[in-house]
Amino acid sequence: MSPDKLHTIIKDFSTEIGFVAYGAIAVKEFLKETEFLTRSIEHSYNGSMKYLARNINIRQNPQFLLEGAKSMMVFLAPYKPLVSQSKEFPLISSYAYGRDYHQVIKDKLHKVGEKLKESIPVAKYRAFTDSAPIFERAAAEAAGLGFIGRNTFLINKDHGLHTLIGVIITDAVLHYNNEVVKNGCGTCTRCLDNCPTGALVEQFSLDSRRCISYQTIEDKSMFEEQLFKTDRKGRVFGCEICLEVCPWSIKGESSKWDEFKPFATLNGKTSISLTSQEWLNMQEAEFNAIFKHSPLKRAGLIKIKDNIVNSQL
Ligand code: SF4
Ligand code: SF4
Repeated sequence: MSPDKLHTIIKDFSTEIGFVAYGAIAVKEFLKETEFLTRSIEHSYNGSMKYLARNINIRQNPQFLLEGAKSMMVFLAPYKPLVSQSKEFPLISSYAYGRDYHQVIKDKLHKVGEKLKESIPVAKYRAFTDSAPIFERAAAEAAGLGFIGRNTFLINKDHGLHTLIGVIITDAVLHYNNEVVKNGCGTCTRCLDNCPTGALVEQFSLDSRRCISYQTIEDKSMFEEQLFKTDRKGRVFGCEICLEVCPWSIKGESSKWDEFKPFATLNGKTSISLTSQEWLNMQEAEFNAIFKHSPLKRAGLIKIKDNIVNSQL
């Protein structure tokens, strides 16, 4: 089958199962990004995320992730909520309203992988989202799915910023993108101006240690032990202020993926309508049962409670 025909099959199928964009590139080395990451590690911007400093050779060259790898297929999963959480509650980032995207996206990527194998039965593939040493934003940009904004997001001109990235690496030869999406930031600096903690230290460059997203999810130390104690503006799990203020965030429809919608929790409340008190009264066993499939389990209840107590200075 010709790469063009296969491209149409994959694109149609991925749309059918909910992805809003697809593009592919020949496996290549990510030299510029590796240089950028190395510089950011030299400045300790990765904080306690030591894994970012490991496997740099794989990050630079995704060839190492699959023997005989020839192509990277990149997909965007939409998560824009129909209704945003009311500001009266402890604020959770919208990607975490529903089920953990890692499993949800991976399942769909495997469906695409099986579709690929219907056309090329000998094809080998591996599916990744977030957890592998891959420069996913750079791969998405190279695949023609958007541009990287000053806030470091991959921004799609039709679907905005509320998208998560999934990648398949395969030894199949595909139809490759050859059009770069022009950067759409222009003279805008809203993300840099509105980040409450100065985490966007310069355009395209994030000091994670200052970023509320890192502080409330990834950094396992409690507020008191953290180096940069800033006003977190009510955010208790993740942050998306630099997404919300971006003019491109009006693009894109609300996600049709049921998995990303808020779910029922306690006392007739949903995952986004629990009060501070309800959170603080919650028991470990309750949390583990209710949030079993949620991204919130990454932080854990003790950390979430600490985040709630310190969500405003
Ligand atoms: S996520 Fe929040 S804290 Fe982090 S860079 Fe964006 S606005 Fe700043
Ligand atoms: S807020 Fe402005 S500068 Fe920042 S990413 Fe969006 S368009 Fe670019």
